[in-house]
Amino acid sequence: MGSDRTRRAFLKDGSVGAAALAAIGSGRGSASGRPDGGGTAFICETCATQFPESARAPDRCPICEDERQYVGPDGQKWTTLEAIRGTHRNTIREEEPGLYSISTEPRLGIGQRAFLIRSDAGNTLWDCVGLIDGPTVARVRELGGIARIAISHPHYYTTMIEWSRAFGDAPIHIHEAEGPWVMRPDPAVRFWSGERLDLGAGLALIRTGGHFEGYQVLHWPGGAGGKGALMAGDQPQICMDSRQVSFMYSYPNYIPLNAPAIRRIRACLDPLPFDRLYGAFFLRGKGVIPAGAKATVERSADRYLRAIG
Ligand SMILES: [Zn+2]
Ligand SMILES: [Zn+2]
Repeated sequence: MGSDRTRRAFLKDGSVGAAALAAIGSGRGSASGRPDGGGTAFICETCATQFPESARAPDRCPICEDERQYVGPDGQKWTTLEAIRGTHRNTIREEEPGLYSISTEPRLGIGQRAFLIRSDAGNTLWDCVGLIDGPTVARVRELGGIARIAISHPHYYTTMIEWSRAFGDAPIHIHEAEGPWVMRPDPAVRFWSGERLDLGAGLALIRTGGHFEGYQVLHWPGGAGGKGALMAGDQPQICMDSRQVSFMYSYPNYIPLNAPAIRRIRACLDPLPFDRLYGAFFLRGKGVIPAGAKATVERSADRYLRAIG
């Protein structure tokens, strides 16, 4: 964990966290001015995003107020990690050799799952869930811990800083375009630029844009018995008919992407060898397209382009 000086310098050096500081408003509880100055790190109930420690709950959640998300019908609500540790449990289950999913019951926030990809070069946490507790940390440690974290887009940033701290300040790789959406700034967050980042352990992040400007997928060439797997998160999204995927600017608010964005996503995925695709949700086609996923993506992109004219 960084010193006070490190955290202050980190905040001062970039635009990162400006939205977070604005959201905290007068609730900020630290005399030093750094956001993690004491108090409670509140969590938005609707998206499970955790904010910097503050004396009282933030005024708003910019991620939920964005047109891609929503504030719940009864208004903005907050919870804490301590509270959800008493009401929720994580399940960690093997999806295929070397790959484990981490999901939370009952549903927490958006309801996505995370994945742990094991490797001799250290394990990678792909995407994130809001609940991190003792049993989860113990099981992940048994599986070899976490050497690095990468998250597709801001809807799943959740409690990523808690996950990083629980595993030796593991670096969190996020595309620089998403800087303004990091609500809890921390030196563990490593912003990268460009279109591809090799993470080690044979994994690569590919920036596709679309749902978010810095949207990234994770390519795992060792997945699917060596045929390759695409860890897609929300995009391409597996449909209820798992022979189809789709692409949206907003899933809850049904805002489509335009044709150039679809063509760009397709061009980014085209060079990647993969046969299997893992999505963020268990209940959409069981959360996986087990084989032929590349052809499914191509067919679905064509279908989408025809639909939007
Ligand atoms: Zn929220
Ligand atoms: Zn999303």
